[in-house]
Amino acid sequence: MLSSHAAADAGRLRQAEALPAVRPQLMIGGSWRDASDRGTFPVENPATGEVLSWVADATPQDAIEALDAASGVQASWALKDPRDRAEILRRGYERLVTQTDRFAQVISMEMGKSVHEARGEVAYAAEFLRWFSEEAVRVHGRYQRAPAGPLRHLISKKPVGPCLLITPWNFPLAMITRKVGPAVAAGCAMVLKPAELTPLTAALFVSLMEEAGLPPGVLNLVSTTRAQDVVGALLADRRLRKVSFTGSTRVGRTILAGAAANVLRTSMELGGNAPFIVFEDADLDAAVEGAVQAKLRNMGQACTAANRFLVHRAVAASFVDRLRDRFAALSAAGGASDGEIMGPLISATARTNVHRMVEDAVDRGAALVLGGGIPAGPGHFYPPTILLDVRPGSRVLSEEIFGPVAPIQQFSDDREAIDLAMDSELGLAAYAYTRDLDRTLRLQDELQTGMLGINTGLISDPAAPFGGVKQSGLGREGGAEGIEEYLTTQYVGVRQAAPSPSDPP
Ligand code: NAD
Ligand code: MN
Repeated sequence: MLSSHAAADAGRLRQAEALPAVRPQLMIGGSWRDASDRGTFPVENPATGEVLSWVADATPQDAIEALDAASGVQASWALKDPRDRAEILRRGYERLVTQTDRFAQVISMEMGKSVHEARGEVAYAAEFLRWFSEEAVRVHGRYQRAPAGPLRHLISKKPVGPCLLITPWNFPLAMITRKVGPAVAAGCAMVLKPAELTPLTAALFVSLMEEAGLPPGVLNLVSTTRAQDVVGALLADRRLRKVSFTGSTRVGRTILAGAAANVLRTSMELGGNAPFIVFEDADLDAAVEGAVQAKLRNMGQACTAANRFLVHRAVAASFVDRLRDRFAALSAAGGASDGEIMGPLISATARTNVHRMVEDAVDRGAALVLGGGIPAGPGHFYPPTILLDVRPGSRVLSEEIFGPVAPIQQFSDDREAIDLAMDSELGLAAYAYTRDLDRTLRLQDELQTGMLGINTGLISDPAAPFGGVKQSGLGREGGAEGIEEYLTTQYVGVRQAAPSPSDPP
């Protein structure tokens, strides 16, 4: 058995081997562009603070050239056989699975999640390529006779056109494949603007798709620190036809406003504030396991993260005890090893924000059951934290926590649970643990969220439609719905000449 020291050394060695595979450059029209004339920006490892790489910093002019490339190939790309596009995605899927370790190392280094969790992200990300390779050849149309009159209706689906894809840092790979997969399947050319905190995974993925046979110009990459200017230049250009955004509700609103000028198609995957409800008939062991997954996956930095725990009074003490034991065991781990451990949060600012929310809850009267302190450096680590009897009005209840903090409220009956659960402008995910079928159906009727997990803490699946209602967004990613976001409907009316009297009946 390796000592933990030797294991950490081996981990660093694997990381050192993964990094040179990344080209820290822009991809425009099939050529990599380095930093000349545009400068670079640093990418840091949030576990250590070390600079991993310097990445070419795209200008608005680069973005326009990327759109030149995308719109230049759009027509021929749209006409390519769906089978060919499917095969490219299939090869991308296979290559990604083969290179799981390399991608997991890069994700872990620039984003902070453990290599173990990062492997899970690579598997999830790859499944979007496989799923949409299967969907590419199943884009159907319709033929019908007009109910009255001489027209025949030919109804078909076409790619919407050049797309801007904007992605966040929390799943540096999966949030990209969830957009690139359906865009390739539908026949759209793309400009990808990844989060500036995690551009290395994006560059590695663009290389992989190039190797998988994606034609030059179809997928262009503009990593940048000037998100507002670069995105603004693209939204103002009439050749762009769609923007698909994953990120915060605040930035999503400004992009929706910008998309209005040229009346773009939009897909918005925005913030969440998921309630996690534990009813009195729940299997508590299962509920605790689900809670650990829904709260601590990605250190709580997931839009689907359980943000508020609502627990029936009759089982609250027992649930909190068990949750504390599971959380405490995880706080004891830590460090840059390969195991199933908690990584750091993405940045010092993010950690300060999480800690202020915990302080605010305690100031307003919540009991601190576990965690709650900032550990000594290096890295932006924060311990799994539990707050009991959080008072209404506390920030943790209304804001996206994006950290490993579980605020718990108690309820007395179903009506109170549902009212508390729905007290949010956001509506992405919800979770509930119950063994009662009627209660489950009532939740399905009454909870206004795009997704609901019953007796599970993990609902994401490339084959299911992911997305929110209310201010959590517009549109769906994955499932049979995912490709629709990149397709537009065209109807052709064909007039049949009236049969002449001499034609046979
Ligand atoms: P963010 O909104 O700060 O950034 C998202 C992307 O937008 C990044 O690429 C960023 O560079 C870009 N951006 C930032 N400001 C911009 C501006 N003014 N104009 C144009 N682009 C701009 O979000 P984040 O911190 O990267 O990610 C966390 C957020 O993402 C959370 O709110 C989380 O809930 C959300 N998220 C949602 C989903 C989902 O599917 N619903 C999935 C993952 C993350
Ligand atoms: Mn279908």
